Amino acid sequence: MKERACKECGRITELDVCVVCKTPTSSDWMGYVSVIDAEKSEIAKKLNIAAKGRYALRVR
Ligand SMILES: [Zn+2]
Repeated sequence: MKERACKECGRITELDVCVVCKTPTSSDWMGYVSVIDAEKSEIAKKLNIAAKGRYALRVR
């Protein structure tokens, strides 16, 4: 199944709507980061990620 990414927070999901921000997701996204510990991750801070998970770097 093609994965989708939230247009708001970038969270990668298989759903049509993001469970966190209730924003429609897009199948048109590029690259992703895996955040295991959001509090200690520099990338998470940069991208404003508060919870662990996988996040797309670019969502259209
Ligand atoms: Zn979201």
